[in-house]
Amino acid sequence: MSFRRASILVSSTLLIAATLSAQSKLSTQWEELTASDFRQGLQQSKATCLLPFGILEKHGPHLPLGTDLLNVRYASLQAAAQEYAVVFPEYYFGQIFEAKHEPGTVAYSMELQLRLLQETADEMARNGCKKLIIVNGHGGNEHLLPLFAQAQLDKPHDYVVYVLDGERSRPGGPAKKSTGIDYHAGENETSNTMVSHPDLVHLDRASSESGADQKRQHLPEYLYTGIWWYARFPNHYSGDGSVARKELGEWNMKGWIDSIVECIRAVKADDASLKIQNEFYEKSTHPLDTRP
Ligand SMILES: [Zn+2]
Repeated sequence: MSFRRASILVSSTLLIAATLSAQSKLSTQWEELTASDFRQGLQQSKATCLLPFGILEKHGPHLPLGTDLLNVRYASLQAAAQEYAVVFPEYYFGQIFEAKHEPGTVAYSMELQLRLLQETADEMARNGCKKLIIVNGHGGNEHLLPLFAQAQLDKPHDYVVYVLDGERSRPGGPAKKSTGIDYHAGENETSNTMVSHPDLVHLDRASSESGADQKRQHLPEYLYTGIWWYARFPNHYSGDGSVARKELGEWNMKGWIDSIVECIRAVKADDASLKIQNEFYEKSTHPLDTRP
């Protein structure tokens, strides 16, 4: 065999091997799977699916409107690559009334938010996703999602909703440069976006608006109003994104991804929640028989 023929043989063998491995490695993304691969994906994920939940809202003067969606999908997809789960497509139909005064905000009504989330969960479960982990990427959803999870007790469902709230800050890691409150598009979130989508971060614009707390309400801390956020951060910017850097983002993202991986593993192993839910649904149809 000539050297040329041998090298053609070697390269075509490599090509076949690469194609086979591409075929055997299932995508984690719902929309990328074929119908029969979807069936296999659910087996591999033990009926566990992720719903990364983002939003469309202003993120200071320097980050994209879809920052929460982009970052939560980045973290979820990285986690699912480590511990297999099927990841639902882009979802951004959450609570964001407080940013309606800014360009690019998409704020659906309260009724639609709850109804769409319920029907999405129902449809996912009808397709075999009996364990649904909602990975929250948006602070404005932090009341909506526990309410939604709690509301699952109203009527029987053959699936369990788990809510994983936001990115966790872990002790240690690179020292932060900003000292004040850092809730939105500040040092942390800007650093995270420098990891997930560095090309979409306009660091040079980060100081063109103030992200300082404007403290325009004077009420006890435990007295809640819906306008609190706008009263404090009317530019829809909280913190200082200009001091962001990739090292901090890498640290934050790693912590976030690790926590999602840990939750996927815990949910796959959880055989208690659905049984307890079913016991509850059954008992709630005849409460007078419930005795201590
Ligand atoms: Zn955000």
